[in-house]
Amino acid sequence: MSVTVRFAPSPTGFIHIGNVRTALFNWLYALQSGGQFVLRYDDTDVARSKTEYAEQIAKDLQWLGIEPHRVEYQSKRMASYDEAAQKLKDAGLLYPCYETADELERRRKIRLGRKLPPLYGREALKLTQEEKAAFDAEGRKPHWRFLLPNFESDPFTTKRTEIVFDDAVRGRQAVDLASMSDPVLIREDGTYLYTLPSVVDDIEMGVTHIIRGDDHVTNTGAQIAIFEAMGAKAPQFGHHNLLTTITGEGLSKRTGALSIKSLEESGYEPMAVNSLAVLIGTSENVFAVPDMAALSERFDIASTTKSAAKFDPAELDGLNETLVHALAFDDVKERLGAAGVDISDARAQDFWTLIVKNLKKVTDAGEWWPIIASAKASDATLEGEDLEFARSAFDYLPEGEISDQTWKSWTDTLKEKFGRKGRGLFMPMRIALTGRAWGPELADLLPLLGREEILARRP
Ligand code: GLU
Repeated sequence: MSVTVRFAPSPTGFIHIGNVRTALFNWLYALQSGGQFVLRYDDTDVARSKTEYAEQIAKDLQWLGIEPHRVEYQSKRMASYDEAAQKLKDAGLLYPCYETADELERRRKIRLGRKLPPLYGREALKLTQEEKAAFDAEGRKPHWRFLLPNFESDPFTTKRTEIVFDDAVRGRQAVDLASMSDPVLIREDGTYLYTLPSVVDDIEMGVTHIIRGDDHVTNTGAQIAIFEAMGAKAPQFGHHNLLTTITGEGLSKRTGALSIKSLEESGYEPMAVNSLAVLIGTSENVFAVPDMAALSERFDIASTTKSAAKFDPAELDGLNETLVHALAFDDVKERLGAAGVDISDARAQDFWTLIVKNLKKVTDAGEWWPIIASAKASDATLEGEDLEFARSAFDYLPEGEISDQTWKSWTDTLKEKFGRKGRGLFMPMRIALTGRAWGPELADLLPLLGREEILARRP
């Protein structure tokens, strides 16, 4: 059987690392099985869905290295949903309800008062044709509920009805259809909630595996019943754990917190985001995986733990640093240019080699370029005896070509002449040469500067 998976975001905000976990689980599953990955925008909620969000999601996935084989929009597929809804209505499985939110709330309280579970009592099923016609005549619009198959012959006498499925992550799952209310599939204004369109699409798009967050486990019970009502076999499900912030709060698309867009803009490497989004909350160690192929080798959907996993931005920093240290000049050339490094300068490549170990992000290289390009970096200053020492030290710069040995022989001489050692020797020299109190190996910096530039830095 060829595999088809889908990532189905609602374009109602910027996707975050938690959403990306779902996207990546699907993408890696498709990679492993040679399957198809469908990007499906769940945009039936017209009021909240925005084109700019859909566009940003496409950009985010591209940046992360996810390349959908097919892109679909639910908003363009209304005819299919109308047809499916009609089929369910004809079968008596989708029924009109006229209760207002207030009425429902009142009934809920009464049921709770009677120590009954606050479920919908299917009162609308008792409405006669005349009563419905009267509501319609009043201009009251119904919402439509799916009649869950949780009874034998009388819908008002429900019985425990377990929908059992073998979850690719969580193992055997059982959802009791008698423990939930008939789900609303169509709102008063005629728009669809996500539940039915999702099933219709999964059937029509030949989705074989639904991999999504474990906040959908209960939906799955109702959706399997809808698959069956539509005469289809439900796909294989896999519900992975969700990510929370470090303090345990859920990530939200609406706040833009930890959005992929913001991570990209702050200069993170996509593979740092991918590594963390996939490996966190699994039995695998989290480490910096260099590319998607290697991540797919590592990925095992069944190794996901059941509890929520905390996303720690500090962990992302660590992974990023490791990845950055392994990047070659050609990998980063363009980004260096954008960060302010003069990549047409013959020393740019050596500069990268020199500085990369000091970087947490590629863009930080821009801040270091002045130590090569200008003699005027001045974050740290020298005074007093240190200034006197550094000034005189330049008289002892060894003769001959400046090589990676120059620093050693220069400082050997300085030790002898001035009796300085350790920090007292190196720090004034570092500040004089770079204008900063920390930075790259001075032994490597000197050949890049050359004699003239070194001498020009005498304080
Ligand atoms: N649009 C739904 C969501 O973002 C998709 C759930 C699913 O994958 O079925 O939660």
